[in-house]
Amino acid sequence: MPSGSSRRAGRHFLQIPGPTNVPDRVLRAIDLPTIDHRGPEFGALGKKTLADMKRVFKTTRAEVVIYPASGTGAWEAALVNTLSPADRVLMYETGHFATLWQKMAGKLGLDVEFIAADWRHGADPEAIEQRLRADADKRIKAVCVVHNETSTGVTSRIADVRRAIDAASHPALYMVDTISSLASIDYRHDEWGVDVTVAGSQKGLMLPPGLSFNCISPKALAAAKSARLPRSYWAWDEMIANGRSGYFPYTPATNMLYGLAEALKMLLDEEGLDAVFARHQRHAEATRRAVRAWGLEVFALDAREYSASLTGVLMPAGHDADRVRKVILDAFDLSLGTGLTKLGGKMFRIGHLGDFNDLMLMGTLAGVEMGLALAGVPMKKEGVQAAMQYLAECARTPARRAA
Ligand SMILES: *Cc1c(COP(=O)(O)O)cnc(C)c1O
Repeated sequence: MPSGSSRRAGRHFLQIPGPTNVPDRVLRAIDLPTIDHRGPEFGALGKKTLADMKRVFKTTRAEVVIYPASGTGAWEAALVNTLSPADRVLMYETGHFATLWQKMAGKLGLDVEFIAADWRHGADPEAIEQRLRADADKRIKAVCVVHNETSTGVTSRIADVRRAIDAASHPALYMVDTISSLASIDYRHDEWGVDVTVAGSQKGLMLPPGLSFNCISPKALAAAKSARLPRSYWAWDEMIANGRSGYFPYTPATNMLYGLAEALKMLLDEEGLDAVFARHQRHAEATRRAVRAWGLEVFALDAREYSASLTGVLMPAGHDADRVRKVILDAFDLSLGTGLTKLGGKMFRIGHLGDFNDLMLMGTLAGVEMGLALAGVPMKKEGVQAAMQYLAECARTPARRAA
């Protein structure tokens, strides 16, 4: 903040990889009188949002439940509804969020087998297949993978992990965290044979934090009948029974659901999911071109696993990423994602997901380029130019927009 003034003019640039920018339309939809959550008007809202969320998850067979909770709540719901004390679960260390989910599983009394990895790659389908093949007496009850590891900007190949589970002929449930990928990166609950998909409101869905989701396959529902981990608030059975008529067993986050209905209209009926995914890919590619033109390193190593919703940028040795982030926030009112746990100070993350367009990206990249120079980080001031050139090419040849 410039000394002497208590106001910063214009919009703050919120380019962390969630929470993301909330469209004005969604904010206005939330800003309505709260209604009777047992009344007729609410039932219609509940039914419509649940049906539209199935379209986002790409499912016709699964059940969807919506919790008034952050994504962490939906992680817990996925585990406690399907598993019993001391059940073995196989998880893969893609980064900070996979590590947190793994810790939660341990605290809940599950027996976690955590495949250690370097955070620069997605979950390795071959490593998962090997573990499952070695599990001759089928003690592993669930395989849990984070689709888009928000701490690193690396995605996992969810369909390939499904193929690995099938190749090992293993009956384990398959659970996927899509908190920072749903409605930004292509995702197919049914086609990819996922049993529980976990999602949250504040990233691709363009809402404030406060809602989270489970999408539940028939196999996961069947597992819930005999699962013995204690659960009450998170229990699926009453959520699903009430949800059939659009209601909730307890007071729902009514105003957040108004916002969700508006966001779903924008994503599904107006822009269309395929266009949303192509837009995210375009912004991610433009960002990577900028990073490379600066002479810096994209954290993700495998091009098949580049995240379309954020880019992790590695700092040159001896330069603190958090100092650069502070310089950029102070000078340009732009927030970037910090390096989490072992990446603290070593990287920053550029969020390019949610309600975002080409010029917002250019403003973001300009802020980063100016900030890197102000902070004295050795780099070439060519990133903005490289990104602009790519976006202009995409605008000239719309077919390339999806490339
Ligand atoms: C943000 C995020 C979480 C945590 O969600 P909260 O809403 O903060 O509880 C978990 N997993 C991933 C991949 C995330 O991006």
